[in-house]
Amino acid sequence: MNHQPFESWLLDDLPLAPEQKRELTSHLRTCSHCTALAETGLALRTPRMVSPAPGFAQRFQARLAAQRIAERRKRFWGIVIFSLVGMGALVLLTFPLLRGLAASPAEWINVVLGYLLFIFSSVQALTEVGSVFLRVVPGFVPPFVWMVLASALAGMSLLWTVSIWRITRVPQGVQS
Ligand SMILES: [Zn+2]
Repeated sequence: MNHQPFESWLLDDLPLAPEQKRELTSHLRTCSHCTALAETGLALRTPRMVSPAPGFAQRFQARLAAQRIAERRKRFWGIVIFSLVGMGALVLLTFPLLRGLAASPAEWINVVLGYLLFIFSSVQALTEVGSVFLRVVPGFVPPFVWMVLASALAGMSLLWTVSIWRITRVPQGVQS
C-alpha cells in the first residue's frame, strides 16, 4: 500500500486543508500502518497520554459499554413502540367493551356477553371459511379462487359490521 503523502503529513504534523484531512481520514480507515503512526503522533503530542498507556483496552471497553447502552436504549424504544402499537390495537378491538364500562353492572355484563358472542361467532365463521377453503381450494382454477376469496371477505366484513352495530347499540338502547 502507498502511504504517501499521508505518512509525511502525519510525521511533519503540518496543518492540513479540509480536503487533505478528509483524504487522510479515509486512508486511516483502511490502513493500520498509518493509523498506528497517527496514534503515536497523538500520544507524543499530548503530554497526558505519554504517561504509561491509559490503554487501548480501557478505551475499547468504554466504547463497548457505550455501544451496549445504545443497543439497550434502542431495544427499550422498540419495546415501547411495540407495546404502544399493541395497546392501540387492543383499544380498537375492545372499544365497544370500553364504552360499556361507564354503564351499570347489568349493562356491563350485557355488553361483555355480547362481545364474547361476537368474538365467538367471528372465530367460528373464520374457521368455517377456512375449512371450506381447505376442502375446495385444491380443485380450483385461479379466477374462482379470487371470486371465493372476495365473497368470503365480503361476508366476513358484513358479519363484523353487523356485530359491531349490534354491540354498540346495546348501551344506547338501555340508556334511553
Ligand atoms: Zn498508510
